[in-house]
Amino acid sequence: MKVPFADLKPQYYEIKDEIDKAIAAIAANTSFIGGKPVKEFEQALAASFSRKFACGVANGTAALSITLRSLGIGPNDEVITTVHTAIPTAEAIVLAGGKVVFCDIDDTYNIDPEAIEAAITPHTKALLPVHLYGMPANLKEIKAIADKHSIPLIEDCAQAQGAEYEGKRVGTFGLAGCLSFFPSKNLGCWGDGGAVVTDDPAVDKYVRMYSNHGRMDKYLHEFLGANERLDALQAAILNEKLKKVDEWNARRRVVAEWYSEMLQDVSQIVLPKTTVNGTPIWHLYVILVEDRDSFMKYLSDQGISTGLHYPLPLHLQPAFDYLGFKKGAFPVAEKVTAQCVSLPMYPQMSREEVQYVCQHIKEYFDGRK
Ligand SMILES: *Cc1c(COP(=O)(O)O)cnc(C)c1O
Repeated sequence: MKVPFADLKPQYYEIKDEIDKAIAAIAANTSFIGGKPVKEFEQALAASFSRKFACGVANGTAALSITLRSLGIGPNDEVITTVHTAIPTAEAIVLAGGKVVFCDIDDTYNIDPEAIEAAITPHTKALLPVHLYGMPANLKEIKAIADKHSIPLIEDCAQAQGAEYEGKRVGTFGLAGCLSFFPSKNLGCWGDGGAVVTDDPAVDKYVRMYSNHGRMDKYLHEFLGANERLDALQAAILNEKLKKVDEWNARRRVVAEWYSEMLQDVSQIVLPKTTVNGTPIWHLYVILVEDRDSFMKYLSDQGISTGLHYPLPLHLQPAFDYLGFKKGAFPVAEKVTAQCVSLPMYPQMSREEVQYVCQHIKEYFDGRK
């Protein structure tokens, strides 16, 4: 048996007719930028979040950086985020003109609220937690800190479309939620895409204008922005997939339950811990294993693909050398990044496939006793 790390094809084949029809309509009318598909998708997306506005943009990095920019961030302004995330989270802060302030993580692998409190200064301009792997961060404490200090909260929901905290969607707790539709995300398009969901008309207007050259209307530009729009083909595909994503997320939950059930007795690994009052959507199912290389090689020899998310915390990336951090600065993240292994995870994964993966994990450790 071969078990891929992820498989995007079944998503297409489940709704092939609808997607093909939507693409053919755009091919026929040649309205490739903006227009009805983008508007329809934005409305449906906003409704799915019970938010007033959703604005499509070119990718998740743009969603984050433009939202931060809307706060009017200057060179001395600090944005607090987690050191254990995909690089776009921190990159967006720099793109928006601010300073990155890293925090260590807790045992859910998300930003540690205590570390946030300790990192706040008079220059803190925003909090940018990430719901990594589709696991909600501790929003109760994070929101309390944001409210106490009157600092805007922006959520990086790139991996957490549809995850909930205390029964409410992540992305609705602060000023705005930022989404990515990179193909492998839970709601993925056929290229790059992103969106910002918010209740704040000023944020929505800014994101809409900045991503479209600071335009008021076709020939009037209020300020200089960029070309970071979501295009019509991506929006049309997303509009069809949006109708399925909750069902696909529910299937991921079943896959995660199988893993947790079948691996519960394997003492050599650490299983993912669910945030109290959180409903994750399992973008990734990540375990901790010592001596990860030989473990991954063993599984690979059995036809099982695994992934690394991520092998290096951001403070040790060459791109952030300039911040001057040394090894040991963020010990929890350093341990997690040294031991994390992402197991195969996608909505259509069968129980047999999960069984095959778990059986080989057990055999690996039995062989080493
Ligand atoms: C994917 C991702 C992004 C950015 O998305 P792009 O669409 O690739 O620009 C941001 N943050 C996190 C945590 C991500 O996983």
